[in-house]
Amino acid sequence: MSVDADRDLSAELASPESGLQGFPVDAICTGCQRVHVKQVRPEDVDAEIGVDPVTLDAEGLTSFKHVCHRCGTATWWNPTAVLTGLIEAKRSAEE
Ligand SMILES: [Zn+2]
Repeated sequence: MSVDADRDLSAELASPESGLQGFPVDAICTGCQRVHVKQVRPEDVDAEIGVDPVTLDAEGLTSFKHVCHRCGTATWWNPTAVLTGLIEAKRSAEE
């Protein structure tokens, strides 16, 4: 059903490559088409600061600049999904 079945999104989120601040989105590198979980702040994707990220729709988010380890530089990434499951898992872990 899911094309992501062979990916471990939590592991991707935990890796330094995802970034340190913000909420998790699935994103695609415009340079090499690599797909990876990235953390973005609302202001990075033109969302309202302080918004609850689970209410956001990836289609309404803008592309954001983030390092791509395959490209070896900072590139533009397009958000393809807001990973609400990971956001909620993180929240319950912090409670
Ligand atoms: Zn890339």
